[in-house]
Amino acid sequence: MSKTLKIFLVWLLLIGFTLPSAAYSTQFADSGETLRLHWAAKLIPIAFSTSLIKPNPYVKPDSDIQGAIERSLEAWEKAADIKFQVFWTDKQTVSPTGKSGDGVSLVTIAQTPENLLLFGADANTVSARTRIFFNRRGYITEADIVLNPYEQFSTDGSHGTFDFEATLTHEIGHLLGLDHSSVTGATMNEHQGKNGVYNLSAFSSRTLAEDDLAGIRALYGGNSDEENCCGTLAGKLLSSSGKAAKNYQVWAEEAESGRVAAGVLTNADGVYRVEGLRSGHYKIYAQDFGSETGRSFSVEELGEVNVVKGRTQTLSKKLKSATKDFDVRYIGFNAQVSELAVPVNGGKSYVIYVGGKNLDAGKVAIGFNSPYISVTPKSLTDHKYGADISVVSFEVNVAPETPLGEYSFFVRSAGEATEFAVGSLTVEKFVNSWNSHFLLPRD
Ligand SMILES: [Zn+2]
Repeated sequence: MSKTLKIFLVWLLLIGFTLPSAAYSTQFADSGETLRLHWAAKLIPIAFSTSLIKPNPYVKPDSDIQGAIERSLEAWEKAADIKFQVFWTDKQTVSPTGKSGDGVSLVTIAQTPENLLLFGADANTVSARTRIFFNRRGYITEADIVLNPYEQFSTDGSHGTFDFEATLTHEIGHLLGLDHSSVTGATMNEHQGKNGVYNLSAFSSRTLAEDDLAGIRALYGGNSDEENCCGTLAGKLLSSSGKAAKNYQVWAEEAESGRVAAGVLTNADGVYRVEGLRSGHYKIYAQDFGSETGRSFSVEELGEVNVVKGRTQTLSKKLKSATKDFDVRYIGFNAQVSELAVPVNGGKSYVIYVGGKNLDAGKVAIGFNSPYISVTPKSLTDHKYGADISVVSFEVNVAPETPLGEYSFFVRSAGEATEFAVGSLTVEKFVNSWNSHFLLPRD
């Protein structure tokens, strides 16, 4: 049976200016990447434009905009040592580009010429943009957010709209100084789906991933009730030829649960630094982050570390750089594949898809490091999606007691070459009712 190619075009969220960024988590004020953008004060004033709540064509009527705003801000406040001071204003338009703005950090959806300028040619692909102003010392002085008034937003999961709360939560991350994350299921990942992708509501990004939490703790320190915050892991990776292993994804998984704790990318010198980790035991992995054409090398486990509050552990390695003959590019659900994580619930089973090159159900194994998630034996099935992509599906069983968060699965060939889809399954409280059967708790 042949299916038509259903690779979803995924709507990208992009920030309103470009800066070089080696780390997943932070934006830098300088090309040497020494000054990380962040607010100097722990109390951050933010003004919401009445354009968001006045009847308009861009927000579905009766949406709970005020509730969504409160929850978005609270998600970040709970994560780090920061508070927002909220104002409402009749102001509609963001500050134009320049050395400094008007000092008001505005969130708006008004269709004014200056607001529309932020989207340029990307008006049909970007859900929102954030424009940041900062001083020479790397302190953010203003951050303006425009929700794309060419799009439609909602808070009830309406098909074909962007979720207002998910979009705002991501943009507030930029406002605070975070850049995009390499972890697929993180709120700060650059891909955002509209409601309806995978035939699901796109609520995932409302909830911050462990990776997002680590990033914001790295910038502002943990919330005062966070006892185990924070430790740092740092190191340098070399390829087998001795050159700097640049653009490698280095990520930490909680050793016991297999949950993704944080992921970063190595810089041009092969150096990585994961801050904001809670004290605990982690397994550390590295794999080349690849390019448009995919990843070349097999994943490598760097080792296990005990991260201790207030300390920096180092873990450096010369990699074996073993090549592999397959590639994992897409994840999928309900016969659709995209670059978005699949949200699942504990206590249920789901059929997950993986798409890429040279994937063959008879030749690869798929599994999870987490003791909470298993792949049903012999459930791997090939699907024909066209000549340019090979797609395999498999059934996963998510134990009822699985901690909420992001989990990775691996694809391994007979030759032991392995690739991880980092944080591609996100265990959530939002209901994904497409389960294939219910599971009982383990005794
Ligand atoms: Zn973004």
